[in-house]
Amino acid sequence: MAKLELPAPEKTVTIGKSIQGLDIQLYCSGNGPISALLIGGVHGDEPEGYLFAERFMQEVQTGSLTLPEHLKLYICPRLNPDGCAVDRRTNARNVDLNRNLPTGDWTADFTNPRYFPGLSAGSEIESEITVAMIEAIKPRMIMSLHSYEHAMINYNGDCLDLAEAMARSNGLPPKSDIGYPTPGSLGTYAGWERNIPTITLEILRGQLPDDAYTQHRMAALDGLSFYRS
Ligand SMILES: [Zn+2]
Repeated sequence: MAKLELPAPEKTVTIGKSIQGLDIQLYCSGNGPISALLIGGVHGDEPEGYLFAERFMQEVQTGSLTLPEHLKLYICPRLNPDGCAVDRRTNARNVDLNRNLPTGDWTADFTNPRYFPGLSAGSEIESEITVAMIEAIKPRMIMSLHSYEHAMINYNGDCLDLAEAMARSNGLPPKSDIGYPTPGSLGTYAGWERNIPTITLEILRGQLPDDAYTQHRMAALDGLSFYRS
C-alpha cells in the first residue's frame, strides 16, 4: 500500500478500510520525541483487548489520563474491525492476522483453522496496514492487546526490563515464549526481526472490562512511556 498518512497530534485519521468496508483508525496524542504504538483488536474475539484500547484512548482524548511529555502515542484501537463486529478471531477472509505478517518464519502450514495464516505472507489489508504503521511511525516500542486463559506479559525483543516494569504495576508474569510457535506474529515481525521492543499483553480471558482496566491502566502507561531515548 501507499505510504501511510499519519494523524497530527490530537487527531484521528482513517488509515484503511477492512474487507467489509469498516474504518481502521489511528489516533495520535502528544508531540514528544519518542513514539509508541498501541494496537487493539487484532483478534476480534478478544474484547478484553480492544475494549481496553478504546477506553485508554478515550481517557487520553478527554484529558483524564495525561501522557508524559517525552511521548508521542499512536493508538489503533481495532485493527480487525470485521472480526470485532462479529466476535471472530480472524478477519473477514478467515485469516489469523497474528500469523499473516511477512516474517522470515512465515509458513502456510496450519493445523487448526483458528490459526489460518493466509495464502501468502502479508496477504491481508490489515497486515499491510500494520507494516505501514510501523514504517511510518518508527515506534520505539509496540504494545498489542490480546486476551488468553493464561494472562501474561509476552515480550519479544530485548526488553525484559520493559516487561518487568509493567509487571510491577499489573502483577502478571513476563514471558518471552507464549508456549507454542507463532510464525507471522507481530512479536516475531517487530520484536525479533526489527529489534522493536514488542509487548503482547495477554489480559485474562473473560475478565470484566472494569476489572481489566483497573489492573492494566498504569501498566500500559508505564510500558508505553518506558523508553525516554
Ligand atoms: Zn489474541
